[in-house]
Amino acid sequence: MDPAIRLLRELVAINSVNPTLVPGAPGERDVAEAVAIEMRRIGLEVSVDDAGGGRPNVVGVLESRVKGPALMFCGHTDTVGVTGMRDPFTPVERDGRLYGRGAQDMKGGVAAMIDAARVVAEQGGPASGRLIVAAVVDEEHSSIGADALVTSWRADAGVVTEPTDLAIAIGHKGFAWIEVEVLGKAAHGSRPADGVDAIMRLGRVLTRLEARDRELQGRTPHARMGTASMHASFVEGGHELSSYPDRARLTLERRTLPGEPDSEPLDEVEHILQTLAREDPSFRATARSIFSRPAYELGANHSLPRLLGEAFSAKIGRPASVVGASFWTDAAVLGHAGTPSVLFGPGGAGLHSVEEYVNVADVLACRDVLAELAVRFGQSAGVAST
Ligand SMILES: [Zn+2]
Repeated sequence: MDPAIRLLRELVAINSVNPTLVPGAPGERDVAEAVAIEMRRIGLEVSVDDAGGGRPNVVGVLESRVKGPALMFCGHTDTVGVTGMRDPFTPVERDGRLYGRGAQDMKGGVAAMIDAARVVAEQGGPASGRLIVAAVVDEEHSSIGADALVTSWRADAGVVTEPTDLAIAIGHKGFAWIEVEVLGKAAHGSRPADGVDAIMRLGRVLTRLEARDRELQGRTPHARMGTASMHASFVEGGHELSSYPDRARLTLERRTLPGEPDSEPLDEVEHILQTLAREDPSFRATARSIFSRPAYELGANHSLPRLLGEAFSAKIGRPASVVGASFWTDAAVLGHAGTPSVLFGPGGAGLHSVEEYVNVADVLACRDVLAELAVRFGQSAGVAST
């Protein structure tokens, strides 16, 4: 069996469900141990660092004696939960696919990047500089792993091996979560003169938000990432059938594009609330930001997509497609902390759903391209960055 697939099967067989997403889940400790053992076995210098709450990042390094640029491969070791899955931790190979929780998101990419380091190590290591292979925790919740990683590790270029169907993704959207609270006045349902209906008033907000979403999606799309968008996630309010509700709460998600100011999502919601208050001075509502992560796009002149594209053509025999991803990833954490990064990983389907698989041939192709990139990167005189 190919060593990348043996490793992938081993990783899928270990339950590493994110314990913040699913209380009581085991988290990344066991899978981190397996990763550390594999990295040591193939000749990497390994450090295991607690990213918080006993959740370990594993970083392996392959160092050349010649000074040169640093390249980082990065993947997350946690997975989402397994509700509804029959046998989530038994890797099953069928029709060129490997099934199991995390097979595509993203143990396939993790196995490919570690096994690429093995190939580079067997060739005597990078010609210059260093190859850093980082397996981080908690991407599926709040990326405490990537946040901890970038406090001590940086590289001239990074590849996050999230699933991209072997396309090179040069960036991705960001997101913002916002809570809106509309205030009313509680009163007996029979006394309209005394009550102010917070839920009805939330309706005014929703109508404006829907119009704003239409406007966002009607804008000229970003060449690779499409448009920004907004949707409601939760609504709550009311106490009983026969009373006017005194408050109503909405949480919403806004997906953002590179170049949008971080303050934009909250600003646009607050603008809507101000407009509504001007129209009706008795309208009272507040908005606050719950959590957000910025969009990311690699600088247009960075040589990484070209080098990765050349490694891809050399190994796969056709040009790579260059895309933008819609989903948020740790590449933004790396990129904003000074490691310019792209996404490149195997294809498959069913991430976060009850039937998840990765294409076995894609894992091998990803491994081969990453190893080729590491060799070429070590030979490259320098990396132009912007
Ligand atoms: Zn992922």
